[in-house]
Amino acid sequence: MRSVEKKEANVLGMMTPMEHEQVMFFNDTDTGLKGIIAIHNTVLGPSLGGCRIWNYENETDALWDVLRLSRGMTFKSSISGIDLGGGKAVIIGNHREKRDEAFWRRFGKFVDSLNGKYITAEDVGTSTDIMSIVMQETKHVTGKPESAGGTGDPSPVTAYGVFLGLKASVKQATGSDSLEGKRVSVQGVGHVGYTLVKHLSKAGATIFVSDLNPANITRVAADFPVTVVNPDDIYDLDVDIYAPCALGATINSDTISRLKCSIVAGAANNQLADENVHGHMLMDRGILYAPDFVINAGGVINCYREVHELSLEETHRLIENIYPRTLEIFRKSKEENIPTQEAAIHIAMQRIENAKQKLG
Ligand code: NAD
Repeated sequence: MRSVEKKEANVLGMMTPMEHEQVMFFNDTDTGLKGIIAIHNTVLGPSLGGCRIWNYENETDALWDVLRLSRGMTFKSSISGIDLGGGKAVIIGNHREKRDEAFWRRFGKFVDSLNGKYITAEDVGTSTDIMSIVMQETKHVTGKPESAGGTGDPSPVTAYGVFLGLKASVKQATGSDSLEGKRVSVQGVGHVGYTLVKHLSKAGATIFVSDLNPANITRVAADFPVTVVNPDDIYDLDVDIYAPCALGATINSDTISRLKCSIVAGAANNQLADENVHGHMLMDRGILYAPDFVINAGGVINCYREVHELSLEETHRLIENIYPRTLEIFRKSKEENIPTQEAAIHIAMQRIENAKQKLG
């Protein structure tokens, strides 16, 4: 062992207020794999959430991300009516760099060591192909390729759910759920953003897109009539709807004052940098916010089919439910004069509390 300086750590200090059950750090010097798995809550069932690979600036950023993402998964599964808890994995590293099989098999072994308390899937930087390697080491994996008995890439289903969430938001704001002629900005046209653009284009919306990856811009601009804008200009556009489909925390004290839209509804997890502060700021500015974990649940509902017997009809019913559920949250927010995010968390937590009481 090289000489190591003793430093102050405060993992429990972050876990406790967010009410996480367990956090596992993993490190494999042979493959260079290092990361964190966070299990937030397993009252409704085993925790499920994707594995993200990202070039975090430091360990604290990675920990913060995985704690917030896993907590969001708890709310997402609960509000969607599925019997899963919230978990997530993050791997610290460049998401554009290709990793070999040994790297992903080692990750699979770490997942397996949790004996099913955490079930993984793809997220930013991972794919169904990677999951087909991970599954060689653990059965606790979803989002596997269809050829391997899985349900495949969850992102098209996520995008459809987000589209339903956008329609419900427009219905709430205007009385009609037509997107014809509505001006929509889509930030990030990767897996989910691209398919969302496809639905929006079919629905007759006027679409603006931005992405940091030029290849994704080229692809979407070749397939659909979109206007491409610089990544930083997306917040200033004169649009009806801003759809964040890249990373989280884009709704913050800097961006809210720039927004000209009346609706924020998109796929990205943890869009509000601070859910207490920024939920209120949006409300005060009269901007309707469709809580991310409510409208981006299509993917996890689809993954649920791989761990639970669920017919295709029942899966469709759960996904279509995103539309009325979003309206229910808007209603509760209005009636109780609370931000929509808070209203959605109340509903999600109530289901968990009810289950807890039944368990005794
Ligand atoms: P992805 O990696 O395929 O796409 C994200 C895109 O955003 C990339 O093209 C990236 O270049 C771009 N991007 C990153 N930062 C940007 C910025 N500042 N401005 C503009 N573009 C930027 O990921 P994805 O699977 O499409 O997921 C998108 C978001 O939705 C993520 O937050 C993810 O956690 C969330 N989500 C995804 C799913 C799913 O099924 N894939 C399910 C639920 C939630």
